[in-house]
Amino acid sequence: MSGYFWENKGLEEMTRQEWESLCDGCARCCVYKLRDDDSGYILYTNVACRLLNMETCRCSRYAERRRLVPECVVLNAKMRDEMRWLPSTCAYRLLANGRELPSWHPLVTGDPDSTRDAGMSLRDRAVPESEAGDLINHIVDVQPTGG
Ligand code: SF4
Ligand code: SF4
Repeated sequence: MSGYFWENKGLEEMTRQEWESLCDGCARCCVYKLRDDDSGYILYTNVACRLLNMETCRCSRYAERRRLVPECVVLNAKMRDEMRWLPSTCAYRLLANGRELPSWHPLVTGDPDSTRDAGMSLRDRAVPESEAGDLINHIVDVQPTGG
C-alpha cells in the first residue's frame, strides 16, 4: 500500500484539504457544455465562465461561486452522476471510477504547473463568455457520458 491519501481513501473519507487538492486546475469544468439529447453525448465548448481567471485558470470568486453563478456545480463525493459531466481526465471522476491519477497530476509530480506543462490546462485556449457569441460555434470536444 502506498502512502498517497488518494490511493488509500475513498472520496467520502477525504478531508476538505485533501478533496480540494485533487483539483488539477485544468479549468475544463469551467467552460460551457451542451448535451445532445439524441445521442446523449456531451459537447464541450471552449467558452469560459465569466468568473474564470483566464491567467490562472482558477475561479476568481471561488467561495461565492454558487451564489454568483447558480448553474455552477459544487461537487461533493456523493455526486457520482454529476461527475459524468466532468472531463475524462478530472481527478474526481477518475477516482470515483476506481482509476488512478494521471502522471502529470500536480499531486503526483509535486509541481503545481504540471497540468499546464502537460497541455491539459485551458490556459490560453479558452474564450471569454463576453466575447464568444453562439456556443454552437465553439465546440472543441465531444464525449459520451458515463464512466
Ligand atoms: S475538471 Fe476536475 S480537475 Fe479540472 S478544474 Fe474541474 S474539478 Fe478541477
Ligand atoms: S463559478 Fe467559478 S468554479 Fe463555477 S464554473 Fe464559473 S469559474 Fe468555474
